[in-house]
Amino acid sequence: MQAPFREPIYVTRPLLPSISKVSKRLEEIWASKWLTNNGPQHEQLEAHLKEYLHTDKLVLFNNGTLALILGIKALSLKGEVITTPFTFPATVEALDWNRIKPVFCDINPNDLTIDATKIEGLISERTTAILGVHVFGNPCNVGLIDEIASKYKLKVIYDGAHSFGSKINGVPISTYGDMTMYSFHATKLFNTVEGGALSFKDPALEYQLKLLKNFGIDNEEVYLSGMNAKMNELQSAIGLEVLKEVEAEREKRQRLKKVYEQQFSEIPGVSVVNKDSNSFQYFAIRINEKEFGKSRDWVNEKLKEYNVFTRRYFYPLCSSFDWYADLESARPENLQAANIAVKEVLSLPFYGDLDLDSAWRIGEIFKEINS
Ligand SMILES: *Cc1c(COP(=O)(O)O)cnc(C)c1O
Repeated sequence: MQAPFREPIYVTRPLLPSISKVSKRLEEIWASKWLTNNGPQHEQLEAHLKEYLHTDKLVLFNNGTLALILGIKALSLKGEVITTPFTFPATVEALDWNRIKPVFCDINPNDLTIDATKIEGLISERTTAILGVHVFGNPCNVGLIDEIASKYKLKVIYDGAHSFGSKINGVPISTYGDMTMYSFHATKLFNTVEGGALSFKDPALEYQLKLLKNFGIDNEEVYLSGMNAKMNELQSAIGLEVLKEVEAEREKRQRLKKVYEQQFSEIPGVSVVNKDSNSFQYFAIRINEKEFGKSRDWVNEKLKEYNVFTRRYFYPLCSSFDWYADLESARPENLQAANIAVKEVLSLPFYGDLDLDSAWRIGEIFKEINS
């Protein structure tokens, strides 16, 4: 019998740089009295992230959700956008804020991203874009999505909140689509406490986005109706220090992933969702109730007795929100793979400070709870 962990094991812990390094930067900020509005910390972080993400077009925001809302606005999207129900609510809420009707497309049961083979059947004369999510760092079928988008002259946006620094066959993920959103929330691999960014293709968008996040103001003139979505100097300063530690964190998580994978390869009914993803933001499994003997929800509850706190990402499906009850595309019979996945997927504790032995013990707990 595995004993419960003495301390609670949470699904994630934020990557925190040493306080003394952050203090040094805070002293710079205090000396300059420049707290926000494109100060030196912000400009440095933007430059470093461009390098890290291999893009020369990147704008920072105070969170990922506002980045996505304003990105959609900058692309002048309207009407309908085809998207996935298996995501964090923010993806679809960004469409709502732009008064765009989401059209839900089922997911690919293997990688849980939007099922690109089903997109074409959902296109109408009101469709203006496809909004895919690289779920758990699993890249969308970018090739097919590109083909469909050029055939029907649609824009392509990716919610890349799970794919910071990911590559597809060695190509940076920011290369694909018209725009990619990143979230730098505390729970993400790279964080600025709260924060986000957009990378994009069309160079003209840079000025639009910078206006949009600053009330539409440039040099005391107001050019459009924007809002306030600027990343401040404190967020940027923390981000600069966190960024230095991301690679080491990724390596630690890579070792953890190996331990989990080894353990789950021996457990019938449990499969790893993001086997091939190289983002290392989450470690997600699927529990097949018939084969494993217990349901995902039962496991999620049972693990609490061992002081292990997992998360049902993503539960519920966005298509099941009350306010989409009238949408044809939201009906469960049109989203069969998503409706199965939403009952089976579970995110396990995954962060660099989790020791390998704890990951191994979590595997051992799985081996004993189903008997
Ligand atoms: C975290 C997350 C967001 C929201 O990002 P914030 O920075 O928290 O606003 C959006 N989409 C997905 C898939 C996420 O995981």
